[in-house]
Amino acid sequence: RNLLAGKVAVVTGAASGIGAAVVARFLAEGARVIAVDLAAPGPARPGVVPVTGDVASAGTWERVAELAATEFGRLDVLHSNAGVVVRAPAHELAEDDWDRQIAVGLKASYLAVRACVGLLAASAGDRDAGSVVLSSSVHALAGLPGHPAYAAAKGGLISLGRQLAVEYGPRVRVNTVLPGPILTPAWDGIGEEDRRRSVAGTAARRFGSPEEVAAAVTFLASQESSYVTGACLVVDGGWSAV
Ligand code: NAD
Repeated sequence: RNLLAGKVAVVTGAASGIGAAVVARFLAEGARVIAVDLAAPGPARPGVVPVTGDVASAGTWERVAELAATEFGRLDVLHSNAGVVVRAPAHELAEDDWDRQIAVGLKASYLAVRACVGLLAASAGDRDAGSVVLSSSVHALAGLPGHPAYAAAKGGLISLGRQLAVEYGPRVRVNTVLPGPILTPAWDGIGEEDRRRSVAGTAARRFGSPEEVAAAVTFLASQESSYVTGACLVVDGGWSAV
């Protein structure tokens, strides 16, 4: 059974890691996907329309909404997944790096919803709401040295998700995923000791895979979660329970 048959989805940060896994899973579930990333798209794939752009720029979202309307005539799912990390304690963090992490990590989701919520609501059926899935992190829940702006953006997304769920229900549901340590290219350059500590901090005693987050995002995107909105889904191998 295809969970997203006939649906049209936007996924940001689609070229790598969790976003790439979400695109693959959405395609496998029958969706067509507008795949947004700063990075140039790879080879053409059936069912995928790439958009190269910065999610923190309103112009990107005008292009995405226009494309959804003209190419597909609808939009059912928005997964705002792109994020950036610049590691530094607050007293060493450059102001530009603070601004960038908040812009990509938090403001981009507002720009995305501002541009897309009309289409999402218009495509919804009586019991088939549009679905927005925001991408927070367990670092919204617990401090991690060197991540002040990242954590502030991710914490803000939890509040933003609740706010948007109330604002746009019942035609649009809005939920937030909170991944724990997921092995993606974002971990390139992070040392063995930090990796070992992160994994030891989970009940699962291992990294999660991008596909395991994609499974949670697919649940929230699909009608399997029809009565779930304004919620946070933690996908962290028990990291926040330990
Ligand atoms: P990743 O680095 O593998 O991929 C991120 C993608 O986003 C890249 O393709 C990058 O080009 C794109 N991107 C970055 N800035 C962009 C912008 N301004 N506009 C458009 N695209 C942009 O990262 P990932 O590990 O797959 O993380 C995806 C999301 O999951 C992020 O929001 C991240 O904070 C969150 N997350 C990841 C982990 C983890 O352990 N990997 C844990 C918690 C939360």
